[in-house]
Amino acid sequence: MVIVEVLPSTVLNQVGSELLAAANGRTFTKKDPATGRALCEVARSGAGDVELAVARAKAAQPAWAALTVVKRGDILRNIALLMREHRDALASLVAKETGKSQKDALGETDAAIEMGFFIAGEGRRFYGQTTTSAVPHRSAMVMRQPLGVAGLIIAANTPIANVAWKAFPALLCGNAAILKAAEDTPLSAWAFGVLARQAGVPDGVYTTLHGFGEEAGAPLVEHPDVAVVSFTGSCEVGRWIAETAGKRLAKVCLELGGKNPLIVCDDADLMNAVTWTLGSAFSNAGQRCAAGSRIIVFDAVYEKFKAMLVEAASKLKVGTGDTDDYGPVINEEQMRHMLASVARAKQSGAAVLTGGERLSGGQYGDGYFVAPTIIEHVGPNDEITRSELFGPITCLYRVQDFEEAVTLANDSPFGLTASIHTQNINRAMTFIGRIQAGVAVVNGGTYGSEPHMPFGGLRNSGNGWREAGTQALDVYSDVKTVYINHNPEKV
Ligand code: NAD
Repeated sequence: MVIVEVLPSTVLNQVGSELLAAANGRTFTKKDPATGRALCEVARSGAGDVELAVARAKAAQPAWAALTVVKRGDILRNIALLMREHRDALASLVAKETGKSQKDALGETDAAIEMGFFIAGEGRRFYGQTTTSAVPHRSAMVMRQPLGVAGLIIAANTPIANVAWKAFPALLCGNAAILKAAEDTPLSAWAFGVLARQAGVPDGVYTTLHGFGEEAGAPLVEHPDVAVVSFTGSCEVGRWIAETAGKRLAKVCLELGGKNPLIVCDDADLMNAVTWTLGSAFSNAGQRCAAGSRIIVFDAVYEKFKAMLVEAASKLKVGTGDTDDYGPVINEEQMRHMLASVARAKQSGAAVLTGGERLSGGQYGDGYFVAPTIIEHVGPNDEITRSELFGPITCLYRVQDFEEAVTLANDSPFGLTASIHTQNINRAMTFIGRIQAGVAVVNGGTYGSEPHMPFGGLRNSGNGWREAGTQALDVYSDVKTVYINHNPEKV
């Protein structure tokens, strides 16, 4: 039995009960974002590995689908129970591969476990619909059916949660699933696969593949036997996946980026608004699709709020410890990308109120740490307003009133989450009605991923599907309309 407490020197693919090197024998080096040093080697899969995984998945799926959904739920509950048993070890892997603190990694691991329990419970509900018919002595109903092989591709920001958000519902619905782990976070994905196996998921039903997007992810998207592709990542890759899998009419669920507005009204509890702005903008080093990156503040309280926010941000502690507020960003390329964007904004006249630079030397060494960054004097059409940075960087915008605030909030290529801070119920309700977002929050952060609640967004944030909640089952199943005719004369 593989023990997830022991870090493998090379992270292998898991195809059924076998831990396999990539068919081409290649590996890549995964670096520790907190130090910039090598952490482990990882299988660098290609089309051959995808081919093998899909063949095994296709062969195994019918028997898995033939189990009752309650039985599948029981096996998924076993995974969640094993995850709970190995909670500390799982969180340590998340902390190692992302650089976040053990405390934050534990929070994320617990959310992933909760997702397991929630979806396992859905096995006892799995509601369809019974309805009436125009024809006498005919029953009409709608039930779910699996799709076949599911290809799951995830981002690295909350790695174990990202695995759980896709693997649990995909499997519950009776699909075989192949997860292509994010190249920056192979360890938690590896451990989930190990535990799934130990929990009794049959051979071939769940596969973990490692490698880069174009080499290992693209063949999965292109494979004719993959019936549904569920993707969490950037807009650019999501669009390519929709086009590619769309050509063969495969189902595609896209959970993409955000540029999430948080409105601070003149009647807001400013301290509460500061607290939630900090959490929204900087937690997980801003590497959240729901990160609050556009803080829209009424003119009447702008200067006061700005001073409070900048002061609070200057007290944030960046590092990997449990008393730190956030850790490094995931890799050097991402860090350089976001700092270059800040530099371009400055050249165009933006004012950096705090941060704007890499933290290095001393405790930061060669890690990819970025100071909490707050920027003002940027326009609604500037690059930094319209493109996602996925880092601890947020911009302030000054507006005159509610009307201007909502208009600016909606003026975005994205539509994932949004928040308003106000004491006025009429403002709050009007905001909920008018904001164009998948998640609307009053007096809180731009958060929104409780396991039992749907999560997703409009426009470039997705393509209409929702992860989590009962709605996640709609991604991984199709409906079957059933008519049963009976004859009361023949009783
Ligand atoms: P990315 O698109 O570069 O990579 C995401 C995943 O896609 C990785 O596993 C990568 O290997 C794979 N990939 C890359 N190219 C591919 C290709 N051609 N074919 C198949 N797979 C490919 O994204 P990233 O920069 O790593 O992640 C950050 C993005 O993810 C942000 O935009 C963020 O908002 C988004 N995200 C969205 C949600 C959500 O629920 N909406 C949650 C977390 C992250």
